[in-house]
Amino acid sequence: NNAQPKKPDWIRVKAPVSEGYKKTREILKTNKLVTVCEEAGCPNVGECWSQGHATMMIMGEICTRGCSFCNVATGRPDDLDLFEPGRVAHAVQTLGLKHVVITSVDRDDLDDGGAEHFAQTIRAVRHRAPGTTIEILTPDFLKCAPEALEKVVEARPDVFNHNLETVPGLYPGVRPGARYFHSLRLLQRVKELDPAMFTKSGIMVGLGEQSHEVRQVMDDMRSADVDFLTIGQYLQPTPKHHAVERFVTPDEFKAYEKAAFGKGFLMVSATPLTRSSYHAGDDFARMRDN
Ligand code: SF4
Ligand code: SF4
Repeated sequence: NNAQPKKPDWIRVKAPVSEGYKKTREILKTNKLVTVCEEAGCPNVGECWSQGHATMMIMGEICTRGCSFCNVATGRPDDLDLFEPGRVAHAVQTLGLKHVVITSVDRDDLDDGGAEHFAQTIRAVRHRAPGTTIEILTPDFLKCAPEALEKVVEARPDVFNHNLETVPGLYPGVRPGARYFHSLRLLQRVKELDPAMFTKSGIMVGLGEQSHEVRQVMDDMRSADVDFLTIGQYLQPTPKHHAVERFVTPDEFKAYEKAAFGKGFLMVSATPLTRSSYHAGDDFARMRDN
């Protein structure tokens, strides 16, 4: 795609070569786990995996949605693997994680959107690695009864993350099949169900949004009592995916971070390489210890 702006220096990252990286890869492979780090071609994989930080993606590698920014395959998903929660728990224990981020594909084919599988995974990790804090990054459960979300919240993850991904005006082109206000309401509902649970959300920038729209999303999130915010640069996984409209500068990210803290978020990560799960454990520990 010739129209793509050139990658600036601040996006380039180091190649993954460390021993820690290899060890993480081995543990994931042994436990037959899929990661969003690989599926999304995340630029931070060298750094994260060298420390054992991998974001596990449960419920298969095929998604029922087809978001235009996402590299995960769309189609008819596989049957749920009932042993997967146990393998995730085993990997978390073996990796010795203080904090784990668990996400999934969308499962619009299942009545509960995969809520029970999520809940079982949380319980399995809690049982096997009681000292590990658990962050989940969930789909939107758009077509499910309210009980689906309640089931996940009742399993008591420490952080409930659901990404808004972009500003509402860009939803039709970026996140077809999702609804901005539904996702916002989901975040608010989590807080209503369990006020002690931390909620988190994030967006990508560089997709064509205006900065005033980003600030509006921050206000919307705060009105839904969202605690943590992540903002990162969108990168195009392949030329077939949504184009990068522009590279947001590090100074603009700093301005977003400052604005977000001003609006009352407890934790904000806004840098070009920020991802939902980037430094999630460190940020969570720092926030909790403050
Ligand atoms: Fe994986 Fe998240 Fe790190 Fe990327 S930022 S490598 S998705 S843990
Ligand atoms: Fe990718 Fe999630 Fe969209 Fe599925 S729902 S295409 S996994 S971003």
